[in-house]
Amino acid sequence: MQTTITPLGKDVYEIDTRMAGYTGITAGYLILSDRPCLVEPGTSGSAPVVRAALDELGVGPDDLASVVVTHIHLDHAGGVGDIARMYPRAEVVVHEKGARHLVNPERLMRSARMVYGDSLDTLFGELKPTDAARIRAVEDTGAVDLGGGRRLETHYSPGHAKHHVGLLDSLTGDLYVGDAAGVYIPETADVRPATPPPDFDLDTALASLGKFRSLGPQRLLFAHYGPVDEVEGTLERSAEELRIWVDAVRDAWDEGLDLDHAVAMVADRTRDRYALNREDADPDVVAKFEALSGIESNVAGILHSLDRHA
Ligand SMILES: [Zn+2]
Repeated sequence: MQTTITPLGKDVYEIDTRMAGYTGITAGYLILSDRPCLVEPGTSGSAPVVRAALDELGVGPDDLASVVVTHIHLDHAGGVGDIARMYPRAEVVVHEKGARHLVNPERLMRSARMVYGDSLDTLFGELKPTDAARIRAVEDTGAVDLGGGRRLETHYSPGHAKHHVGLLDSLTGDLYVGDAAGVYIPETADVRPATPPPDFDLDTALASLGKFRSLGPQRLLFAHYGPVDEVEGTLERSAEELRIWVDAVRDAWDEGLDLDHAVAMVADRTRDRYALNREDADPDVVAKFEALSGIESNVAGILHSLDRHA
């Protein structure tokens, strides 16, 4: 099993969890402290990749103390059931609004099947149930003991999803932003919003970005994809992206456009914002990020939020 492990300093390792075989779109992280902690295990298909990476880093089946997910979307948490079985002593930490779906994934899988159809199997695979006794649900804030006085603090950050948390490392000031700050594309340094249905809400998402800023993080660790040192500018850009996309979709919504036409209009209005859309951009990079977090999903999520408020 081929692994891509990138040391980020202070015992933090980025692991490419290779959603659907793509490289460089889904990042998991291992904090190799006294009580090793895995952040964002990725999809069910990622589990063997994660295990190989943990083996390489010297973390055996009985060594992993905790697994934390920022939220339960399948690109982040689809592998929780598999990982919980591989690491029987690890506690699974999740926001309270997501916990029951990890215990009983049927409903989550049914609605994902409605969105993704047959591509569900290739993209994510099957989220397997986790024993409720293994799960610890956190509320507005929580803490994961990393050992030696080091903690990972959880901070409720809805907007992208109603069960989303950001994670702040007390030693490094690293903030694991999940999808609450959108998608960072390392190849082009673009930031794109992540506003899928059914939970996306602009004001809630902006409030969560404000909360992130107030935590004073030293570095942002994106699930998609990787570390970003420029904290202030990037969080500002995330908020700006949200406003621009919501404005564009609102115009389409006011005109009564259907989804296809709204997507075309928003794609047109936002195209020049991203280096990813330049003619010399690598088509493989364009394709993989579109598969992960596409324009259509973003527009559908914003339309849904506008309908809900109307
Ligand atoms: Zn995601």
